[in-house]
Amino acid sequence: MLQFTSRFIDSTPGDPQTDRQPRQVHGALWSKVQPTPVSAPRLVAWSPEVAALLGLDEATLRSEEAVRVLSGNGLWPGMVPYAANYGGHQFGQWAGQLGDGRAISLGELQGPEGTRYELQLKGAGPTPYSRRGDGRAVLRSSIREFLCSEAMHQLGVPTTRALSLVATGDAVIRDMFYDGNPEAEPGAIVCRVSPTFLRFGNFELCASRGDVGLLKALADYTLKNFYPELGAPSKDTYAAFFLEVARRTARLIAHWQAVGFVHGVMNTDNMSILGLTIDYGPYGWVDDFNPGWTPNTTDAQQRRYRFGNQPGIGLWNVERLGIALLPLLDEEEALVEAGLLEYERVFQSELERRFAAKLGLSSLVQEGDLELVQGCFSWLAAQETDMTIFFRGLSRVVTAPEAPSEWPAVLREAFYGKVPDEHVARGLEWLAAWWRRTRREDVAPAELARRMDAVNPKYVLRNWLAQEAIDAAHAGDDSKVHTLLEVMRRPFDEQPGREAYAGRRPEWARSKPGCSAL
Ligand code: AMP
Ligand code: MG
Ligand code: MG
Repeated sequence: MLQFTSRFIDSTPGDPQTDRQPRQVHGALWSKVQPTPVSAPRLVAWSPEVAALLGLDEATLRSEEAVRVLSGNGLWPGMVPYAANYGGHQFGQWAGQLGDGRAISLGELQGPEGTRYELQLKGAGPTPYSRRGDGRAVLRSSIREFLCSEAMHQLGVPTTRALSLVATGDAVIRDMFYDGNPEAEPGAIVCRVSPTFLRFGNFELCASRGDVGLLKALADYTLKNFYPELGAPSKDTYAAFFLEVARRTARLIAHWQAVGFVHGVMNTDNMSILGLTIDYGPYGWVDDFNPGWTPNTTDAQQRRYRFGNQPGIGLWNVERLGIALLPLLDEEEALVEAGLLEYERVFQSELERRFAAKLGLSSLVQEGDLELVQGCFSWLAAQETDMTIFFRGLSRVVTAPEAPSEWPAVLREAFYGKVPDEHVARGLEWLAAWWRRTRREDVAPAELARRMDAVNPKYVLRNWLAQEAIDAAHAGDDSKVHTLLEVMRRPFDEQPGREAYAGRRPEWARSKPGCSAL
C-alpha cells in the first residue's frame, strides 16, 4: 500500500483558506488546493527509472487508479495537495508574489533507498496563485518537460525528474507568442518528482514582506530536511547553507555550459534551492555554440538569458538569495560577498574541469592550456559549428597516429553550410595543437578516447527532435516520444542504427526557436 506524507504542510505555516480564489497569501508558505479533474486521462509515457526510484512497479503505474492520481482525478492515501507560495525576480525586476499557479504538490513518497520524493502535478488546474492563468499545461510543453527532465538526468546534470506524462482529453487555449493566434491545443499533465521544489523565490517573498518569522521557518525547514549535514539551525548554519547553495548553483551552470543547455527563463522563481535544473519552459540546446543564442522568443530583444549569459545570471540570482537571507545572518554584507566569491571560484574551476575532460585533458595547468580552450571557444563560435558533434568527434581524432594534416571527415559533420577555407585552416591549426597537447597526458590515446566519449554526449534532446515528437503526438502518434525517451536514456553510447538522432539541426528547424512554455 502506498503511503504518502507531506513534511512541508506538516511543519510550515499555511494558508487557512482552501479555495482557488486568486489572492495575495500572507504569513503562509502554502495553500491547500485540490487538483481540478480532467475528462479523459490517458497515460502517454512514463519513466521506468523514476518509477524505480519511488518503488512503483509497472503494473501499479499503468493501473486505472494510478492514472487517476497522475491526472488529478484522484488521490492515494495520505496525499494532501497544496500549492507553494513564492515570489521572484523576473527578467531582472522584482515581480512580487507568483507561487504555484499551475503546479500542485500531492505529497511525498519514500523510495526504497530511503529518500523522500515529492510528487507534483504540473497543469492540474487553478490555485490561489494562478492570477489570470488557467492552471493548465499543453501537451507540447509537457512533452518537452517530460523528455528533457529525463534526458538531463541521464547526462548527469542535477535536475527535477518526471514520472509520467498524461494527456487530459481537454483542450487548452494558448496565445502563441510567435504567431499571436489563440489556438486550442491538447492539454497534458506531467508528474514531476524531486526531494523538494523550493526555489530562491520562496525565500525572497518572505524577505520582501519583512516577514522574518516566516523566513526563519522556511530556512529551518530547508536545513533540517535537505541540508542536515550542516547541523542545527543557527546563524552559522544559515551562512553555510547560503555558501552551499552558491556552490551547487555554480556547479549546475558549469554543467549546463558544458552540454550546451540553455534554460531560457532563469528568473529567481526558477532557481532550485537544491541546485537542480527546474522548470523546463522555452529551454533549448545550442546547435552551434553561439553565446548570444536564446530559445526564449519573449527575450529576443534583451537576450538576458542567452547561452553566454547564464553564468553571470546565476551569480546575480545567488546575490538575490543572499539578500533575502540577510535578516538571518550576522556580518551580513561580508557573507553575501563571500557567497558570490565562492560562486565565481567554483564556477571557474568546474568549467575548466569539465572542458578539460571534454578535450581529454586531466587538467588545464600546463602552459598554454587556457589559451587552447579559449581558442577552441572562439573558433567554434565564429562559424555555425555543431557543439555536440564537434566534441563527440574529437575522440576519433585523438587516436590518430599523428597530428591531423587535413580536416577530419568526422568533424566536417559539425559544419552547418559552407565554411570558408581560412576558417577550416584555422581550425586545423587548433586541432593539431590540441592533438600534440594530448600526447603530454599520461594515458594511452585509446583510453583518452574512452574517457572523452563518457563526457561528450552523442545524443542530446535537440530542439528539432522534440518538435518532431510533438508534431507526431499531435497527430495521434506517441511512439516518437517513447523512442526519444529510449535514446536519451543512454546519451553517451553509440546506439547503432540511431545516428539520425545525433544529426545536425535540419534546415526547417533553423528559424524556429524553442517553443514557448506558456
Ligand atoms: P514560469 O515562467 O513558467 O516560471 O511561470 C511564472 C509564473 O506564472 C509561475 O508563478 C507560474 O505558476 C505561473 N503560470 C505560468 N503558466 C500558468 C498558467 N497556465 N496558469 C496559471 N499560472 C501560470
Ligand atoms: Mg516557474
Ligand atoms: Mg514554467
